[in-house]
Amino acid sequence: MIPVNEPLIGKDELRNVMDCVKSGWISSKGSYINKFEEEFASFCGVKYGVSTTNGTTALHLALASLGIKKGDEVIMPTFTMIATAYAVMYTGAKPVFVDSERETWNMDVSKVKEAITARTKVILPVHIYGHPVDMGEISRLAKKHGLYVVEDAAEAHGAEYKGKKCGSLGDIGCFSFYGNKIVTTGEGGMVVTNSKKIAEKARLLKDLAHSPGKRFLHMYLAFNYRMTNMQAAIGLAQTRRIKELIAKKRWIADMYRENLEGMKGLTLPAEKEWARNVYWMYSVLVEKDFGMSRDTLMEKLFKEGVDTRAFFVPMHRQPVIVKEGIKPVKGGYPVADGISRKGLYLPTGLTLTKKDILTVCGKLEKVQKSAGKA
Ligand SMILES: *Cc1c(COP(=O)(O)O)cnc(C)c1O
Repeated sequence: MIPVNEPLIGKDELRNVMDCVKSGWISSKGSYINKFEEEFASFCGVKYGVSTTNGTTALHLALASLGIKKGDEVIMPTFTMIATAYAVMYTGAKPVFVDSERETWNMDVSKVKEAITARTKVILPVHIYGHPVDMGEISRLAKKHGLYVVEDAAEAHGAEYKGKKCGSLGDIGCFSFYGNKIVTTGEGGMVVTNSKKIAEKARLLKDLAHSPGKRFLHMYLAFNYRMTNMQAAIGLAQTRRIKELIAKKRWIADMYRENLEGMKGLTLPAEKEWARNVYWMYSVLVEKDFGMSRDTLMEKLFKEGVDTRAFFVPMHRQPVIVKEGIKPVKGGYPVADGISRKGLYLPTGLTLTKKDILTVCGKLEKVQKSAGKA
């Protein structure tokens, strides 16, 4: 079976972890934490990095550091992973969902303006599957209405909007280092920002908010979102080879494009002229004229030894969100619904070989041909 994803973990990662274990620095203090935060933030082109336990807690910590609370509204895409919405809901604020844009599958920035109310505090774009959101209009709107911008860059390590890295384009950028992300620490996350004030608040809140100078005296309701030195040890090794990891993703995308371009009924992922897509997952849409539905295609590929994943189910269709009484906006979400029905991602693991990719493309053709005959 060709898996849908696999991390690339090498000798340096192993050596760093061994160093932690041998030296006894296995908890959330130790030199790897600081180095990882510094080097990852610097890669993003921002001043401060605050590590967390995962991407979900990074998002929550970001919003908490901005003081987001009940009564506030946060504008975000309906087409994303549930963690984005959960993070908003943990603060008590209400997520306001916006439909997607056809080409990049990101939040439709032309629909953000009409979602702004007197209660809006944050715009939370998500760089879906590694393609940056068109941030220009979002920044303009945020400035005009006095809103914060928090980027969910969990799928977009190293992606660029007009030459600037995702995560550095708003007030705060949030990353995940889960096992299937471009940079992994097993489980882990990071908040990056250029604001010293936000970084200090995030650092305080992620570690139970001990008062500075007076340990065990607490002014804020805070969290334990501390990453361990062992995770940071892996993260540091990964950050030092990040260009290689991104180049591999882009190579995979090139290989797929070369072999799948022109295939009937298959829409390939976009890369806008202002964007550098990092193709976290090589995602395609299975259109009507492909010859079978997305779900049938997935089943058939699986039988042929190729693992795939269906696209996210949009937030407005999540029972947990409907149950909370969060209503869709006027006009609904036709684009997000379409993408979510038609989309799947092909194997995009960092260990894929050229032969693997050619096998996947060959199986796609074989399955499509078999449908024509049936
Ligand atoms: C992976 C992911 C997250 C959550 O990260 P975890 O580390 O799994 O908590 C959040 N948002 C998006 C868009 C993601 O893909």
